[in-house]
Amino acid sequence: MKSRIQPPKHVFGPVPSRRLGRSLGVDLVPFKTCTYDCIYCQLGRTTCHTVQRKEWAPMDGVLDELERQLETKPDYITLSGSGEPTLYSRLDELIDAIHRLTDIPVAVLTNGSLLWQPEVRRQLQAADLVLPSLDAPDPARFAFVNRPHPEITFERLISGLEVFRQEFSGQYWLEVMLLGGYTALRIPVQQMAERIRRIRPEKVQLNTAVRPPAEEYALQVSPERLKSLARLFKPPAEVIADFRIHRVPREAQSSTKTLLDLLRRRPCTVQDVARGLSMKPAEAIKLLAILEDQGNIRTSRHGPSVFYRSSSSDKPRPRSSFPNRAGMDSQPQNRKGIIS
Ligand code: SF4
Repeated sequence: MKSRIQPPKHVFGPVPSRRLGRSLGVDLVPFKTCTYDCIYCQLGRTTCHTVQRKEWAPMDGVLDELERQLETKPDYITLSGSGEPTLYSRLDELIDAIHRLTDIPVAVLTNGSLLWQPEVRRQLQAADLVLPSLDAPDPARFAFVNRPHPEITFERLISGLEVFRQEFSGQYWLEVMLLGGYTALRIPVQQMAERIRRIRPEKVQLNTAVRPPAEEYALQVSPERLKSLARLFKPPAEVIADFRIHRVPREAQSSTKTLLDLLRRRPCTVQDVARGLSMKPAEAIKLLAILEDQGNIRTSRHGPSVFYRSSSSDKPRPRSSFPNRAGMDSQPQNRKGIIS
């Protein structure tokens, strides 16, 4: 009898990452388990808004999966995925165990919201590279953009970012997500640059909402505007927003066909696609982004959910035959407006 190979549950990729090369992702918490509910989140609204730290996934299982994927020779092993990785309570043990398996450096993509907790800072010391975020210059914009759990205040966030920098000897790169009309304005950016000057990260990297966000009003900033705002940082920030059009990697070509077949049959969210193709949401997003850039698929929105569907189902079908899901808006709304 043939044994059935289980698809990976926690490890995905390697996926191409603008900052980390070929990054082997490790997802440590369930989908949308996060301390924030960012208006720009490409995974949709947070469904488990929490500050509870626990072993959300069995560590031995994560390590077994990871060991099997090491032959892919990634540039980084990245603790990230579809929620906040510092909610994982055995982070230090996990990173130490990864270091015993391989020399590949371990990066942690975190929103930084729990760095005010000494235990979280202690556990992160084991990482080679930590990439926290700061998206707002003041408490009001922080509440609006990140919609944090009530236990996380702006003061706690800032003090955590500063203290961790003093304690951590690895690389520290700070990401700033700028949104049109809210934070991508000269004065808020200058205020952020001033705060970041005190944090002293090795790099400051600017991003914007290049993929469909949780809230329609989280507006993308143009590449030109980002470049101009980057000069307000000293030294100037690096723009990492990925506006490029990518090709589907060879190893993902069969998944692409299955995905297009799926989207021809019915519109799907990122999570539907991830489940349907047995991949992690972060992988699904990359593939969907390529197909959207190529014009093969379109997005439409129903409330907080973004649905993807095949462009080939647009024209020939009369509107009434479009498979409607819970009354979703059947008018395509491809990319959101770009604000400069
Ligand atoms: S963008 Fe990141 S930090 Fe914000 S809600 Fe989504 S997963 Fe959480």
